[in-house]
Amino acid sequence: METEKSASRLALKQHVGIYKQFYGGIILNCQSSEELQALVNECRDYAKQGKVADYIPALKKAKQNDLSISIFYPDGYGFSAGDCQQSMTLQSISKVISLALAIMDRGVDYVFERVGQEPTGDPFNSVAKLETNKPSKPLNPMINAGALAVTHMIKGANVQERLHRLMTFIHAITGNDQIKVNEEVADSEFKTADLNRSLCYFLRQHNVIEENVEDLIDLYTKQCAIEVTCLDLAKIGCVLAMDGVEMSTGKQVIPHEIARICKTFMVTCGMYNASGEFAIKVGIPAKSGVSGGILGAVPGKCGIGIYGPSLDEKGNSIAGVKLLEKLSKKYSLSMF
Ligand code: GLN
Repeated sequence: METEKSASRLALKQHVGIYKQFYGGIILNCQSSEELQALVNECRDYAKQGKVADYIPALKKAKQNDLSISIFYPDGYGFSAGDCQQSMTLQSISKVISLALAIMDRGVDYVFERVGQEPTGDPFNSVAKLETNKPSKPLNPMINAGALAVTHMIKGANVQERLHRLMTFIHAITGNDQIKVNEEVADSEFKTADLNRSLCYFLRQHNVIEENVEDLIDLYTKQCAIEVTCLDLAKIGCVLAMDGVEMSTGKQVIPHEIARICKTFMVTCGMYNASGEFAIKVGIPAKSGVSGGILGAVPGKCGIGIYGPSLDEKGNSIAGVKLLEKLSKKYSLSMF
């Protein structure tokens, strides 16, 4: 057992972008990571009922049946099962990180004077509520309109400096300075992001943002194209679960209050217009992205990273949601 534990530690320490699959350990009250692999096997078939995102052309290359999970604990242990060597881009998961940084840069009042705090029953890229809500401000930071406004608030002299600050922040949260932007995915989204451009123009007309729309889309598409593994996601989840403390260094990388705000948004809006049902069935603060990633933070316990690119009609990983549902039930992870 000791050898297994040190092997696990070693594997985590050696993690550079690609994470080597390893098994053997205790997951909460789970007695072996074979149990985790068994859950992956049970859920893999759900992928057939979904569809890989294709509105960003580069995302079409994903393998529909891939499914993987990592769990990361505050004491530095991590366990994975499935196709966990596969990397993904953050897509909407990046909205949690940009929100944390924007609040750190500008303060709570400034951010929420410009972006609301309420869930929406609309799809993530909907323009509808921007027009019908008065005063015209995005309903929350987890939908595209809100996320674009939040990314606008990240401080820096230009796009490059703002992206650099965001990357440095992610490196500190994950302890992995190898994380980079996938330029192909960023470019692919930049060329096809007309709906997001239209959201930006709307926001600019209503004085929510001021900058050049092409610059903001450039920064936003790069933010969405940051490439991670399930283990990186699980580490981000663990920092949020531990109220902003990165446990290996003991550093408060996200202020406690801001970590609390991020987790609250993950519960109320993290799975878009499926957040209510997800809260009932899973009960874990989580954020999904159209690449098929899901970031989970079990308060005080662990972080979870999921990858399953086949999506349901709301844009959430179809097998990933099932996997979290089974995991939460089996190990009583719901916070409710
Ligand atoms: N980059 C994607 C977009 O803006 C993110 C959406 C998502 O992951 N739901 O369309």
